[in-house]
Amino acid sequence: MSTENRPSLPCPFEKNHPSQLRRDDEFYMWQAYNLAIDAWREDEVPIGAVIELNGEIIAAAYNQRDSTRDPTAHAEILALGQAAKTVDNWRLVGATLYVTKEPCPMCSGATLMSRLKRVVYAVPDPKMGCLGGATDLNLLPQSNHHLEITRGILEKPCLDLLRAFFQLKRKED
Ligand SMILES: [Zn+2]
Repeated sequence: MSTENRPSLPCPFEKNHPSQLRRDDEFYMWQAYNLAIDAWREDEVPIGAVIELNGEIIAAAYNQRDSTRDPTAHAEILALGQAAKTVDNWRLVGATLYVTKEPCPMCSGATLMSRLKRVVYAVPDPKMGCLGGATDLNLLPQSNHHLEITRGILEKPCLDLLRAFFQLKRKED
């Protein structure tokens, strides 16, 4: 996938490696954050996602929309696909998705359709977020699957990353 016509911007943020011993929401969100940095290093909007099942990370992905020229190549969609391969089942029962920004309409739909147990996100998105930000697909009255949602885990570092990326992009234009 060629990106030679889009020189990448150096990422001024460092990855964060929390202790493996305390596997709480912040631990998994830091992994998603580190993937967002990988996205930035490939000149992609810095959004990362991991999926946890039984204390293990079964999928890890970052936004690749530009490099793949695929409008569905969001971190969440890529991670859900990986996770389904890993467990050999499209139903991700008991699994939790951690993502650095609230899922868009497409990704929010995919989290419901994959029967995740939980979605944890860092930065709410009042414009396009569909798990509480702009609207909430999880509240579809006739849906027989509902997700547990946790919002705002590591919101500040994930938001700082997104803001800095877009600021640099604007300067570049
Ligand atoms: Zn999305």
